[in-house]
Amino acid sequence: MLIQTLIERKRDGGALEPVEWHGLLDRYLRGDVPDYQMSALLMAVIWRGLDEDELIALTDAMLASGARLKWGSADIARVDKHSTGGVGDKVSLVLAPLVASCGVAVPMMSGRGLGHTGGTTDKLESIPGFRTDLTLGQVQAQVRSIGVAMFGQSDEIAPADRRLYALRDVTGTVPSIPLIAASILSKKRAEGLDGLVLDVKTGSGAFLPDLASAESLAEVMVRLGEAGGCRTTALITAMDRPLGRAIGNALELEEALQALTGEGPADLRELTSRLAVEMLLVARVSTTPADAAREVEEAIASGRALDRFRQLVEAQGGNPAIVDDPGGLPQATEVELFEAADDGTITAVDPRPLGRAVIEMGGGRRELGDSIDHSVGFVVTARPGMQVAAGQPVASVFARDPDGIEVGMQALRAAIRYGPADPPLPLIIRRITAAGREQP
Ligand code: URA
Repeated sequence: MLIQTLIERKRDGGALEPVEWHGLLDRYLRGDVPDYQMSALLMAVIWRGLDEDELIALTDAMLASGARLKWGSADIARVDKHSTGGVGDKVSLVLAPLVASCGVAVPMMSGRGLGHTGGTTDKLESIPGFRTDLTLGQVQAQVRSIGVAMFGQSDEIAPADRRLYALRDVTGTVPSIPLIAASILSKKRAEGLDGLVLDVKTGSGAFLPDLASAESLAEVMVRLGEAGGCRTTALITAMDRPLGRAIGNALELEEALQALTGEGPADLRELTSRLAVEMLLVARVSTTPADAAREVEEAIASGRALDRFRQLVEAQGGNPAIVDDPGGLPQATEVELFEAADDGTITAVDPRPLGRAVIEMGGGRRELGDSIDHSVGFVVTARPGMQVAAGQPVASVFARDPDGIEVGMQALRAAIRYGPADPPLPLIIRRITAAGREQP
């Protein structure tokens, strides 16, 4: 198999056979295909796309490159959720223990911060002692004992995706619907799931901001999940403003704890509940959305969901005392209020400047391997449509020094807008299943 022949075929709009995708990835992982040839091929995919057989073959080849979680004859359904990433998106922290407390096994694999978006493993690691680097054996044992584990991707799972993702990150080849879909689904299928719920973001803070691309990505991922024997549902949700109020690792953890007790921002509670309902439905633990919603409400109101989070923290080496006293989470040394500049109506709160500022303030990585300051970030009460008076506090900046405060203030000035803007998106825009699209 001559690699340049494959590159030329893809460049000219042809397709690679499944056996060629498998052989190519095998050879790439063994070091027999150089990065420059793989990059050329990926760039050809950006322009030419993949047909359905190629998409399935690439996903299967990435999946086959690593190990899978094995569950034997376990009779409890295993379900996970994946979000395409956003600013202030702390849903996983609430959802995993909540759904586990409703009788579903949740082996939740999450990522670190990517681009301007935060990552669930970084947020969890703001809990003193909490470990996300579990082996697959540890994940299996923990899910069997407490029904939930939250862990990062290791070299054990889909190593071909890990290598390709790092290459895509530096060669301008991330924004491709088939490449994103194959990357996500190969990792999720390695968890041996019965069901998967996807939260596909749209709006200015999403990786694919336009609705049509979000819908196509969701449809492709639903098809791929179902083709792999995993019941898959996607919700398309708003990321034209931050989700909830807190942005930044420890601040988001604290807000997630509020949501686990039925408090905290309404948008966070609503989205978490909707995703939890979808997870109970794909798990077949509930048969109707109304039953599932009742189950979810009861898990929060009874304190079961919060208890499960406490068990999770303890099982993964964290200090469970933070659950009742979030004062034990890392605290910023500098805190300053941000006030509205004018009387009027706020028309937009752009997530991107805020997500980027958290990285600049030390709360995210500029380079792989950077350590991060979990305490920094924002609490933003400003929302599109809110009437404000000049001088009214609409956000707080949490930083480790005065320079960080200045970075945060500038980001808020860029993010909070008063002029004409598109109306805010509905929180939940579409529901996509194997049966088609629905307006929720
Ligand atoms: N997240 C992934 O895991 N892969 C992609 O390609 C993009 C986002």
